Amino acid sequence: MTTDNGGDVRLSGISKTYGSFTAVHPLDLTVPEGSFFALLGASGCGKTTTLRMIAGLEEPSSGTVFLGDQEVTHLPPYKRPVNTVFQSYALFPHLDIFENVAFGLRRRGIKSVKKQVEDMLELVQLGEQARKKPHQLSGGQQQRVAVARALINHPKVLLLDEPLGALDLKLRRQMQLELKRIQTEVGITFVHVTHDQEEAMTMADTVAVMNAGRVEQLGAPADLYENPQTTFVANFLGTSNLIEAAVDGKDGDDIVLAAGGGKLVLPQARCSAPTTTGGKVLVGVRPEKISLTHIDDAGEIPGGRNRITGRIADSSFIGVSTQYVIDSAVCPEFEVYSQNIDRDARLTPGAEVVLHWSPAHTFGLDAAQDID
Ligand code: ATP
Repeated sequence: MTTDNGGDVRLSGISKTYGSFTAVHPLDLTVPEGSFFALLGASGCGKTTTLRMIAGLEEPSSGTVFLGDQEVTHLPPYKRPVNTVFQSYALFPHLDIFENVAFGLRRRGIKSVKKQVEDMLELVQLGEQARKKPHQLSGGQQQRVAVARALINHPKVLLLDEPLGALDLKLRRQMQLELKRIQTEVGITFVHVTHDQEEAMTMADTVAVMNAGRVEQLGAPADLYENPQTTFVANFLGTSNLIEAAVDGKDGDDIVLAAGGGKLVLPQARCSAPTTTGGKVLVGVRPEKISLTHIDDAGEIPGGRNRITGRIADSSFIGVSTQYVIDSAVCPEFEVYSQNIDRDARLTPGAEVVLHWSPAHTFGLDAAQDID
């Protein structure tokens, strides 16, 4: 249904082929109205092509695009209630910031633009900069002008194609929060393309992780991170410490697995692999979920935890935490991040340790998939 904010964006069986090459395989995707939605993936995975098909800049090879209950599949871009912000801000260098933002209104013949432009400059916190030229602004400010210029025509959907790609890391982080604030304030749907998983997770309510022209997994950032369904998603969103294990049996709602002579427990609900006895499962755990205890103190570890033994191969102090690399029989380079609360508790290379973590922080993946 179409509502004030345009309704959901719905892609149904949308695909794109270039000759014999398929850039986007038939895709069904719903972007909820008013959400901040990220298309995340490595270069060449088809995320920009998908965005351009929503914008009308690319004709789909199959499928339909709906904005609310209006089918827009074959409408030209200017007839869609959509606007796009690109990485290159493409501001008019000879016009000041006010006139850059006013441009869309003037082109539509609207005479009294002052209030609308001022409100929009206020929204992006550039009220003081109205009479400057683009080259007198920082990259982040220029990007905010580009956003204001795209929003002034009241699109129902704002598409953002790597808009922060040209900014340095610090500015990028600031702009992520800024864009999130603007989206919350205007309440329309934002669809944001990025290859940066931290950026997608910081900004978006829902993330679609794309790989080789397909959406591998769709979900809230924390769900994707904590419960990935494929090795690609597990590894793209961070370190996953994959252990090859074999299903030993069941214990209530848990799967019991054998790995390197020990046992690991995995809640059935956190396993996307088949779990027939004897079958292989890749067991993963994020580095910050693991505790380290010196092997001499192993008796103090509470029961009910997954545990494996290893030896510290390397440790890097990075201020807020120490990052350890640990050799173990089940995973050659286990990564563990420990908060630096007690300086004396830091472990040194060569130390024999027990790595232990809660089964609730364990996920299981299909070992038949390739490990990226
Ligand atoms: P990037 O972040 O590098 O832009 P992406 O994930 O956005 O990557 P797309 O730009 O959607 O990827 O491109 C997906 C694939 O389609 C790539 O392999 C690309 O080379 C190919 N492709 C895109 N446009 C064309 C075109 N006009 N003709 C032929 N191949 C194309």
